[in-house]
Amino acid sequence: MAHISPAIIMRTRDLGESDLLVTFFTPDRGQLTGIAKGARKSRKRFANCLDLFCLVNMEYEPQRKSSLFFLHSGKLVKTFCGLRTDFSSLALASYLVELTEILFPTGVVELDMFELLKNSYNSLNEGRNNEIIRIFFEARAMMLAGYGINFERCCKCGRTYTGKGRAVFQADKGGISCLGCEHESRLSPGMGADTINQFKVMQSETETKWGKLSLTGEMIEEIKPVLKLHIEYRTDRRLKTAKYL
Ligand SMILES: [Zn+2]
Repeated sequence: MAHISPAIIMRTRDLGESDLLVTFFTPDRGQLTGIAKGARKSRKRFANCLDLFCLVNMEYEPQRKSSLFFLHSGKLVKTFCGLRTDFSSLALASYLVELTEILFPTGVVELDMFELLKNSYNSLNEGRNNEIIRIFFEARAMMLAGYGINFERCCKCGRTYTGKGRAVFQADKGGISCLGCEHESRLSPGMGADTINQFKVMQSETETKWGKLSLTGEMIEEIKPVLKLHIEYRTDRRLKTAKYL
């Protein structure tokens, strides 16, 4: 039976002479791939809605002998024109898709992840600060994937972190340690108390609530290397698109 749901277009590839293979992300079924028959010849059923990063209402149904879905039609909801206006926004949009694909492969469903992706594209569209969009997305996506950073206590001596003073990130533990247990270094980047507090806000919010974030340039510079190490360690790979950011 056909199913209609919101979807964000993640990837498309030409198939044969007139079909299109489309990977899209949905709230209720996560990442799916389907065939849009004749989409490149007749634009009627998919009027302008299979472009990358578009938000559409997709009508699709499973095929009997294949894991690929059959795409019936799509209605464009939002194109997010603003994220296509410059290379850095476009590169960031690609990176967000790639991180989503790695953290939520086919079969892994997370309703809040769809909202996060959609809200991040909205923020890009509105021309908000790309660096903040990126770190907010990374912190929140890792949390949703089950890789939230533990700021509760030192991962080495177990001492409770009371929210005062600097602490050091430990990628292999997915947590922090006190300065008594570990020195700050490139592989153990330090963060101030205010930075850690903002990090916790980013991890806990279910949607982009910019009003609750008060990130200074200094905090952003502390958060960036932590997220980089954290994502590299947990995904065990360097993201292809990250180098274009
Ligand atoms: Zn300690």
